[in-house]
Amino acid sequence: MWQVVGQPKAITLLERSIEIGQLSHAYLFVGPPHVGKLTLALNLAQAVNCGAATPPCGECISCRRIAAGKHADVQIIGLLSEERREISIEQIREMQTGASLPPFEGRHKVFIFDRADLLSHEAANCLLKTLEEPLPQVLLILLTARESALLPTIVSRCQRVELRPLPVNLIKEALIEDHGVAADRAELLARLSDGCFGWALLAMQDEKIIEERSRRLATLVDLSYAGLKQRLAYAAELAAQFSKNREEIEEVLTLWLQWWHDLLLIKGGDGKFVTNIDQQSALLQQAKDFNAKQVMDFIHHLQAVSEQLEQNANPRLALEVLMLSMP
Ligand SMILES: [Zn+2]
Repeated sequence: MWQVVGQPKAITLLERSIEIGQLSHAYLFVGPPHVGKLTLALNLAQAVNCGAATPPCGECISCRRIAAGKHADVQIIGLLSEERREISIEQIREMQTGASLPPFEGRHKVFIFDRADLLSHEAANCLLKTLEEPLPQVLLILLTARESALLPTIVSRCQRVELRPLPVNLIKEALIEDHGVAADRAELLARLSDGCFGWALLAMQDEKIIEERSRRLATLVDLSYAGLKQRLAYAAELAAQFSKNREEIEEVLTLWLQWWHDLLLIKGGDGKFVTNIDQQSALLQQAKDFNAKQVMDFIHHLQAVSEQLEQNANPRLALEVLMLSMP
């Protein structure tokens, strides 16, 4: 059984490749954070090492050891600590040494690169050698939410598999049926997850995630009624944060986009589809204060800033312009 929720296209492709013995030596799983890339990668590692007729069975010793992170031939390579900003060349060299040895307990060695976009330039070039001269019995799986940050030469040597956000109902059902979450809460988590099941699971286990989100939304609402000085101070604060942890700023911008999209839905009479169902009164108030054109324009500004940051624009400048364009 494939454990990943949804993703029928990706699973069919991998299953078919295993069936006909045409597995690629390297895959690139692309999709937003928490959409299920790592789960699918571990499932694939199970599938290539499982002895059952329809792998991955999830029950044999090999499948269970991989799920528990104890299988000697399956390794996840990522940031060594939160303070480190890159996956280093030393980590790649160590992987290459490991890859040159035969599998220890399974049939395939599998190396999973979590957040492959964080490979340092030297590490990426070093990895390229392994991709160019694939070893039998070695499977590389690169995971990323930011494909554009990878070297094109790396992307072109991997088979690309895209993981898409899931429908709200699918996430809601899985939360209720597989995790015993109450219907109301499952509905909220599913909507807020933006189609990423892993996020819903994290928020289910950790109350602080929803609290932090509410705090950020309160700041957003305050700012839309605040003066220039306060807005620019916030832009500076975000920009300073960006250099330390860009994912966090991306999260803030996604949150804002969801919020303004909700306002647009309410303006258009589709309020029942809003993401932020726990913030109805604040949404309704703001929807009264701004007209549809203001909301649309700001959504465009938000999208533009996200793209600019992706292309390494000056974060402070981009965020200041965003604050100035907020209605
Ligand atoms: Zn198995």
